[in-house]
Amino acid sequence: MAGGVLIVAEHLEGRIAPSTLELIAAARPLARSLGDERNARIAVLGHGVRGIATHLAGYTLDVLLLDHPALAEYTGDGYVQALRGTVESTKPRVILAAHTSQGYDFAPALAGTMDLPLLTNCLAIDLEGDRLVATRRLLNEKVQAQVEIRSDRPVVVTMRPGAVKAVGPARGTMTVTEVPVTLDPAAIRETFVRLERPGVQDIDLSTADIIVSAGRGIQKKENLALVEEFAKAIGGVVGASRPLTDMDWLPKTRQVGQSGKTVRPKLYVACGISGAMQHVAGMKDAGLIVAINTDPTAPIFEVAHFGFVADALKLLPATLKELKA
Ligand SMILES: Cc1cc2nc3c(=O)[nH]c(=O)nc-3n(C[C@H](O)[C@H](O)[C@H](O)COP(=O)(O)OP(=O)(O)OC[C@H]3O[C@@H](n4cnc5c(N)ncnc54)[C@H](O)[C@@H]3O)c2cc1C
Repeated sequence: MAGGVLIVAEHLEGRIAPSTLELIAAARPLARSLGDERNARIAVLGHGVRGIATHLAGYTLDVLLLDHPALAEYTGDGYVQALRGTVESTKPRVILAAHTSQGYDFAPALAGTMDLPLLTNCLAIDLEGDRLVATRRLLNEKVQAQVEIRSDRPVVVTMRPGAVKAVGPARGTMTVTEVPVTLDPAAIRETFVRLERPGVQDIDLSTADIIVSAGRGIQKKENLALVEEFAKAIGGVVGASRPLTDMDWLPKTRQVGQSGKTVRPKLYVACGISGAMQHVAGMKDAGLIVAINTDPTAPIFEVAHFGFVADALKLLPATLKELKA
């Protein structure tokens, strides 16, 4: 079965990256527009990763398992070498990878070595006849553009994590096919040294249902305690705009935005955040956005569903008092 969509799975230490489940969601309508929702496959590269492959087959996807000792740890060269043969034999219309540090490492290299068109950091993609239309944000997120490619060659696309809602497993399971891997380990220029984890494991903002984020408007670090107390009272966790993590008031893991986390909580409360486009890029898809800002012209009110022109340092304690009562 040639054509269709080829997804490249991302995994680490036996766990599938959430962005891979988003790619599956993005691939389904593409495969449907190519005639069959099942016209999507997923490539799992690694060594001893059959468990991951079997799990992904439960998403009603044919799984191509590319197992090789030289793929035990991710390297860009290893992925490119291994994927070449699969791309040549399956001739997909679209190759989907996540725009993560892995995806934006190997995807351009794969496109470059195989002379394929490349679209990076896409928010959405559609196939309209022989045209592939991708939605991207350009010029520091100021402009949303639709880019069109007509090509009879596979198009390599990286999708921004968080841009598409992840899917759960589907009914029924598909096959796992082990694909022979042609790879020259001596031609892999990178060497995996070790995996370093942050000293303190922090909460994962991207899975939180309620986020109360603090911006420079909270004025001093001591006022974070108030934001934390409010977040706790409504069952949420604390996020932040970039200046706060730059000043080390909170760890980098709490930063929401273009260079931080993309979040989709049910409720997002922005306290003293102006709503710069780089911040909004990471939270605009929250179910309900509440903004508190002293400046009625602050851009955050353009994306907020409810806005309070108020001093957060007064409104939060007053609301807490009401909640306690
Ligand atoms: C390449 C690049 C990437 C970036 N990535 C990110 C990113 O991932 N995330 C991010 O957040 N930013 C990012 N930024 C920075 C971004 O452009 C803004 O500078 C930043 O978001 C501003 O943070 P802020 O809203 O907290 O501060 P400010 O812009 O200073 O806004 C503070 C707001 O608080 C209000 N305020 C003041 N006092 C009070 C009060 N008592 N009560 C209520 N409101 C009050 C003010 O009216 C103002 O609107 C990036 C920038 C660049 C160039």
